[in-house]
Parts: sequence; C-alpha cells; structure tokens
Amino acid sequence: MESPKNVISKFDLPYLPYNMDALEPNISKQTMEVHYNKHHKGYVEKLNKELEDSHLEGISIEDLLKDVMSYSQTIRNNAGGHYNHTLFWRMLSPERIEPYGKLLNQIEAAFESFESFQKQFKKVATSHFGSGWAWLVLNEQSVLEIGSTPNQDNPLMDVSSFSGFPLLGLDRWEHAFYLDYQNQKADYVDAFWNIIDWTEVSKRHEESLLQYNI
Ligand code: MN
Repeated sequence: MESPKNVISKFDLPYLPYNMDALEPNISKQTMEVHYNKHHKGYVEKLNKELEDSHLEGISIEDLLKDVMSYSQTIRNNAGGHYNHTLFWRMLSPERIEPYGKLLNQIEAAFESFESFQKQFKKVATSHFGSGWAWLVLNEQSVLEIGSTPNQDNPLMDVSSFSGFPLLGLDRWEHAFYLDYQNQKADYVDAFWNIIDWTEVSKRHEESLLQYNI
C-alpha cells in the first residue's frame, strides 16, 4: 500500500523546558503564550507547508540555513524564525545561571570585562532599526563578535553579512517585549541578563570550538 503523501511534518515546535509563567517578571506568561504558541508555531507551520513536495525530507535546519540563498523568501523567513526561536527558548532559564569557565574567559579577553560585553551587546540590541535579532557569535577566525541581523535572518545564513556560530541571541522584535515593556526596549535587554542559562551558552561555545576544530 502506498503511504499517504505529505502527512509527516518536517519540523516540530520544540518542547518548552519550563512553564509559560516561569520567566516572570522578566517575560510575562502572556508574552510567552503569544510568542511560543502563535509566532513560533506559525513559523513551523509555514515552513512545513512551503516544504511540501520539495523532496527535502530529513534535511537539518542548519543545512537549510547555510544554503538559504537557494530557497524562497518564505523558507528564509520561516526557517530562520524556527531556528532562532528554538535557540532562544533553550538559552533562557527561570534560574539565573552566571557565566563561567572558558567562555567567560574568552568574553573578558575579547570585550575587556563582562560588564563591557553587556554594554556593547545592549547597544547593538537597542540601536538596530526595525525587527531583528542581536547575537553573540564565534566567527570563523574563532573570535567572539557581537552583531545583528534583520527580520528572521541569522549568522548561519549564507545571505547574512554578519556570520558566525550563534552562541547567544536576543529576539528584538516588538512581539517579544511590547506587552511587557512597551517602547522601553532597553529595560527588556536589561531583564534578558536575569534569565540567561549560561550553561547552555557554554555548551554552544564548546560546540562551536569543535566545529572550527579549535
Ligand atoms: Mn519572536
């Protein structure tokens, strides 16, 4: 018997490792519900719909992003949206986990101090015009770098002028903060530091070092 066509969704909304209200007061339950259940879910659904009949079953999201120039604008927007949000949920935690070890050392070496890194990151996150993301990446020269991408682009994409392996990303679309902070984007960035899981960011740092064979 022939198996039914296009019944297997290619990408799934990832499991959220904490409750919707767990990040309060930094990010409200209401923001989480809309952001995860509407925005992120929407990116996954649109991506899967666009991939119907594409014969790309089994392709990883990373491979899609690295070659995104070859695909449609809809795939660019929604594959980026899916990857960025998956990363974002995973690096947040209700428990504040301070930066440590090899990554902290490299941040201090690259930006003089952790406080100075925070200042520079905040400047990029608040000064970029329009919707997009602020990032900390390890670039191909194995240097830590702060930068931003517009819309749902990210530093893995071949179309991005800012590139590297994303270690930390901040969603700076209005949908991420407007219910809680209105136009006070700087307060949203300040609150972000309270809920970063630096264990997760450190894991990604290790992964990036392996990827670049450092
Ligand atoms: Mn978002």
